[in-house]
Amino acid sequence: MQVIERVQDMSRWSEVQRRDGRRIALVPTMGFLHEAHLCLVRDGKKRADRVVVSLFVNPKQFAPNEDFAAYPRDFGRDRELLERESIDVLFHPSADEIYPAGFQTQVSIDKLSRLLCAPYRPGHFQGVATVVAKLFNIVRPHVAIFGEKDYQQLQVIRRLVRDLNFDIEIVGHPIVREADGLAISSRNVYLSPEERQAALCLSRSLSRGACMVKRGETQARVISEAVRAEIEKEPLAKVEYVTLCDSATLETVEKIQQAALLALAVRIGKTRLIDNRILKPIG
Ligand code: AMP
Repeated sequence: MQVIERVQDMSRWSEVQRRDGRRIALVPTMGFLHEAHLCLVRDGKKRADRVVVSLFVNPKQFAPNEDFAAYPRDFGRDRELLERESIDVLFHPSADEIYPAGFQTQVSIDKLSRLLCAPYRPGHFQGVATVVAKLFNIVRPHVAIFGEKDYQQLQVIRRLVRDLNFDIEIVGHPIVREADGLAISSRNVYLSPEERQAALCLSRSLSRGACMVKRGETQARVISEAVRAEIEKEPLAKVEYVTLCDSATLETVEKIQQAALLALAVRIGKTRLIDNRILKPIG
């Protein structure tokens, strides 16, 4: 595995691979790798001849009140984990390399980045779209893998690729969970043992929603209220939103007529967690 820090070196590497007819997969990450990241990497390996993992804690996607400085980092460990997966390149640029002096272009996506998480994370999706567009241009992958855990991010990227004509296949990887149901996240390290237990209310509430749909409930309001009530049974949890929406546009639905996304964001103490599940109506 090569570690590449310079944008120019990364582009040159990709150019050679492309010239030789090799298919490149990109897995963008912010590091502090866990099992879910590694599942995305293995998915990438199946889909391409070469795998590049980018590790960049993108300052532009953190709102001013968020945890950029405190975001967990452990480059040595990340590097070891990726060595073991036998990937080809770990792309690890500095912030100056990605945003050199004078940088002033932003990619903003209209409707999709005003919904769900957006009001709670000002500028977040613009920061994501900007860095992902840059990574796509630098690495020039044929395929890029993103997790469905960050479902809104995945839809924003699908839109970006369609709207700006990137010739890249976007793959959504299913949510990877701990044995007890908690969606794996780098931010789970912030949870105290008590909070870790409390955080199970997210996946539990999604299961509650899924059960209701299985039993024939189609009213989005009834389902969302039950999901919210389930979370609120947990004293350490504070709901930011519970939404049932169209799985492509993310606009809220009133009735579940086709597969819909049940998405939620919950604060457990100071830690903000998100989770989601696709609900399919019976019949
Ligand atoms: P991050 O390092 O948190 O930016 O995540 C990098 C990629 O891993 C993103 O595409 C995430 O959606 C994905 N990811 C993180 N956690 C999970 C999870 N539990 N299941 C599936 N994908 C995940």
